[in-house]
Amino acid sequence: MYVDSHNHVRNWSQDATQSLEELYRGYKQKGIYGIGLSDHYDIGNYTGDTEWIFDIGDYIATFSPYKRSLTEARREAEESGFFRPAFFLGLELGYLQDHIEGLQGVVSTPGLDYFILSIHEIYGKNPYDFFEEIFAKPQKQVYEQYLELCLQAVQDFPNASILGHYDFISRYAPQRESKMNYSCLADHFDSLFQAMIEEGIALEINTGTVRQFVKKDLSLEDALPDPQLIRRYLDLGGELITLSADAHHVSHHGQYIKETISFLHRQGVRRLAYFHKHQAHTTPIQ
Ligand SMILES: [Zn+2]
Ligand SMILES: [Zn+2]
Repeated sequence: MYVDSHNHVRNWSQDATQSLEELYRGYKQKGIYGIGLSDHYDIGNYTGDTEWIFDIGDYIATFSPYKRSLTEARREAEESGFFRPAFFLGLELGYLQDHIEGLQGVVSTPGLDYFILSIHEIYGKNPYDFFEEIFAKPQKQVYEQYLELCLQAVQDFPNASILGHYDFISRYAPQRESKMNYSCLADHFDSLFQAMIEEGIALEINTGTVRQFVKKDLSLEDALPDPQLIRRYLDLGGELITLSADAHHVSHHGQYIKETISFLHRQGVRRLAYFHKHQAHTTPIQ
């Protein structure tokens, strides 16, 4: 039983091409029990002239009719013989310090089940377009700065449900050796994990990073997260891990999820989390 809480659909996320129906179909085929929709809401982030925001009221009105818990999805399947995954409604909030007030207003809107706090900019630039400028600095320095931004975001939004892709920045590092290792960044990870655990914010393992590393021709083992990092999170008392393919396109459905589940199991993770009405729930990992 598994819920993937991080997904995007077209018309709401500017970098997504799939529809909600395609997402349902894909996840049903993969046997995924629940879908969380988390479209991009990035105040201050532009593509050309368009800011990555939308009308929250419209978003909630459009997708609320799909909401159903795991229990409701199961009951419905028993009665009708037709299984439709559970559905939760969230947002992926792009954290920018200059826009805290605007973002706070958005997350306090009733009708959302959760929100993912994500860092999509560093040194005022998005790493997708500006990786060369960003990585003109030493890799370790960039990673430390990224983790400091994650910590700042967690401190500014202690009501967040999930910290999205802690390793997002590593996807854009030009070096072949670009995995974020616990041992090189131990103090930064410890402070971040402690703050998250204290606030009940879940750690997201996002297979978008695995996808990017495999594209760089790395082996699956090298593309998966650093095992030490997961074990450290558990040692510190962390109990909330979410796992997601961060699907933007049909080809992303369930990508590397099976492999990552067995990797997490090997590190001692026994349950995975998802959020419903701002409450964390967990399901057994295997
Ligand atoms: Zn993101
Ligand atoms: Zn995303």
